[in-house]
Amino acid sequence: MKALVYHGPNNPVFEDKPKPVIQKNTDAIVRISKTTICGTDLHILKGDVPTVVDGRILGHEGVGIIDEVGSGVSNFKKGDHVLISCITSCGRCRSCKKQMYSHCENGGWILGNTIDGTQAEFVRIPYADTSLHHIPNGLEEEALVMLSDILPTGFEVGVLNGQVRLGDIVAIVGAGPVGMAALLTAQFYTPAEIIMIDIDANRLELSKKFGATQTIDSSAGNERVIQKVMELTEGRGVDVVIEAVGIPSTFQLCQHIVKAGGHIANVGVHGKSVELHLEKLWGHNVTITTGLVDTYTIPVLLRTVQSKKLMPQQLITHYFKLSEIMKAYHTFSNAAKEKALKVIIENDL
Ligand code: NAD
Ligand code: ZN
Ligand code: ZN
Repeated sequence: MKALVYHGPNNPVFEDKPKPVIQKNTDAIVRISKTTICGTDLHILKGDVPTVVDGRILGHEGVGIIDEVGSGVSNFKKGDHVLISCITSCGRCRSCKKQMYSHCENGGWILGNTIDGTQAEFVRIPYADTSLHHIPNGLEEEALVMLSDILPTGFEVGVLNGQVRLGDIVAIVGAGPVGMAALLTAQFYTPAEIIMIDIDANRLELSKKFGATQTIDSSAGNERVIQKVMELTEGRGVDVVIEAVGIPSTFQLCQHIVKAGGHIANVGVHGKSVELHLEKLWGHNVTITTGLVDTYTIPVLLRTVQSKKLMPQQLITHYFKLSEIMKAYHTFSNAAKEKALKVIIENDL
């Protein structure tokens, strides 16, 4: 089969790999119908994720059809239409019993990381019973690809950890796919205002279509943004600020614009230490949360997509065939220039 394979930094190759086989009786083999590329795949290609070794098939998002199941799989059979969670969970360990699947002692984020991933014709999914979800009839596949990772991430680590409530003023720093996912799912709770902050004018414009009530271009630096947020909030700051970039300056910004009693929900993956202004925050009753996505909300997100309360297909800007995946990577890695948000890659092989 064909797959997108990591061969060291800046060297992805679309090449032949053996079709995966069942290794344990709890595995399933899924024929991928649609997959996508995540910002994390770009981090991997830069060499930022040392657990990914030469020869690894990338990708941790996708939908497909079950091709084969091991004898220990009881919830799925050949031909079933499934959504793949980016997090693999055994369902039995201590972390899984707490729904903290990201820290599953036998899984977690392994797809496209420590085991071969979804940017291929076929993928092996360990613990299939607890790592796959049935797709209800009539649902559009491409919308569901967004539910493997970015929607649960924006929702769980941004909106739910940040405790967005009715009437809140929410700021989201970063209007990438994850920030946009937080924007879409924050609206379940009807906040009064959602302020999107980014340096990319095109993404800010797009965010207005998805429900942002205010946008702030932060390319002129944090001072200007802080001033604008204070103007918009009568000098108080925001109830919830969701950090969806992952660099020190955006985390700094969050500390400046959160109001007393407010929440900072960090979603961004940070590679460097950041300054924490505890001398300012301690007396302001501010809560800071962090987290790796668990994907425990996939079932409820599936239902909201089914009832059209959530339309994640809005995040898709480009379409490619699996045979054109190198082109898809090129577009996604030049997102600002190409005006790209999420790309759909369809298995045409
Ligand atoms: P992305 O790179 O597509 O988007 C980041 C956005 O931040 C871009 O729109 C960019 O223009 C904007 N940006 C860059 N510098 C900025 C600045 N100084 N001020 C304001 N905006 C700025 O990434 P994404 O896929 O949307 O992911 C967002 C973050 O979430 C990343 O750090 C990613 O690694 C992380 N993430 C975390 C989890 C988790 O489980 N916690 C899961 C998935 C992704
Ligand atoms: Zn991802
Ligand atoms: Zn587990």
